[in-house]
Amino acid sequence: MDFDLTDEQKAIQSLAREFARDEVRPRAEEMDREERFPYELIAKMAELGFMGLPFPEEYGGAGADTVSYALAVMEIARADASTAITMAAHVSLGATPFYLFGTEAQKQKYLVPLAQGKMLWGFGLTEPSAGSDAGNVQTKAVLQDGKWVINGTKAFITNSGTEISGGTTITAVTGKRPDGSREISNIIVPQETPGFTRSRKYRKMGWRASDTRELSFADAEVPQENLLGPRGEGYRQFLSILDGGRISVAALSIGLAMGAYDEAFGYAKERHAFGQPISKFQAISFKLVDMLTQIEHAKLMMLRAAWEKDRGRDYVQAASFAKLFAGELSHRVVNEALQIHGGYGFMDEYPISRMYRDQKINEIGEGTNEVQRVVLARLMGL
Ligand SMILES: Cc1cc2nc3c(=O)[nH]c(=O)nc-3n(C[C@H](O)[C@H](O)[C@H](O)COP(=O)(O)OP(=O)(O)OC[C@H]3O[C@@H](n4cnc5c(N)ncnc54)[C@H](O)[C@@H]3O)c2cc1C
Repeated sequence: MDFDLTDEQKAIQSLAREFARDEVRPRAEEMDREERFPYELIAKMAELGFMGLPFPEEYGGAGADTVSYALAVMEIARADASTAITMAAHVSLGATPFYLFGTEAQKQKYLVPLAQGKMLWGFGLTEPSAGSDAGNVQTKAVLQDGKWVINGTKAFITNSGTEISGGTTITAVTGKRPDGSREISNIIVPQETPGFTRSRKYRKMGWRASDTRELSFADAEVPQENLLGPRGEGYRQFLSILDGGRISVAALSIGLAMGAYDEAFGYAKERHAFGQPISKFQAISFKLVDMLTQIEHAKLMMLRAAWEKDRGRDYVQAASFAKLFAGELSHRVVNEALQIHGGYGFMDEYPISRMYRDQKINEIGEGTNEVQRVVLARLMGL
């Protein structure tokens, strides 16, 4: 078994680490406080090739593997979860559907500028009354005179309403199958489509510098060729997109936990009580040991899933294990890291306060902890 990263993986990891340290970390507190979208960081990440890391160069990407992509997400999340989710959602939810299921013309039109980071794209699966139960989407698209006429609402869609968002790919009911079950398809909806509107940004507890909106479709019309892949394949397509997304969220969770560990480690060495640094108290040093032990554990699980994916193997169970474990681990680690900060951890000037708020969504997005267990129980034959 070879645990060494390749030279290319190491190079991407250190590029992401330097970028996160020099460019992202210094801005994170202000962006969170002002709920300001990181346009300037997106432009820099585009220059570095991060917005299209795992896509082939012929489609505007950097041609890197999933392991490199996951390492980059982890390093950026270590500095700021909002910037990391903006990149990760763009790659794994926005651009990947075009790469996996798009026609050559759709790849040229959408994937190339997305991978180059020239525009962002959303993936609209969730609805106000269909989240975990995603197969129950109510948005309808009817084919009339060569156009899809769309009506419905999507909730919580990342990257859907920024100044550089080009559109959203949405999941809609497009008819009934011969057996009476609902036919679900994915449809590409560009931003300028009449009848397609975006709400104001939600006011969120965490990921406050990221863009999340409700989308409405009132007789919104797009050409018939905006169907993504074959008609009726929408359910299968979004399940496979979510499988890959779980590696992203696991990487994001681990990165956030690493950032919280960094803060707690530094604080424990600096803060004195009873005449010595608090790191000298076993109660504190054991917390730090337990935190790093769990981080190392989660990293191995997540990188294993990414490695399996890069080899074209079935990585679904590994990704689900990694997402579940990393989401819950980030909760424990960030909580303990804040505890080490005492009362100062409760103050907004300290990064750990933001990290504590940013953590919670890691246990909800792209499959809640409960849904991960449902998926895993099924995969385990239960
Ligand atoms: C900031 C943010 C960004 C997001 N970005 C996107 C995006 O870009 N695109 C997108 O499509 N969606 C996005 N989402 C939606 C996200 O994926 C959903 O919120 C998530 O899947 C949960 O769905 P829900 O919120 O409807 O909760 P519900 O499904 O209503 O769940 C409520 C509770 O019931 C539990 N539950 C539900 N079903 C079961 C079951 N079978 N067994 C046990 N427990 C169950 C859940 O685990 C949870 O605890 C985003 C959400 C947020 C908050």
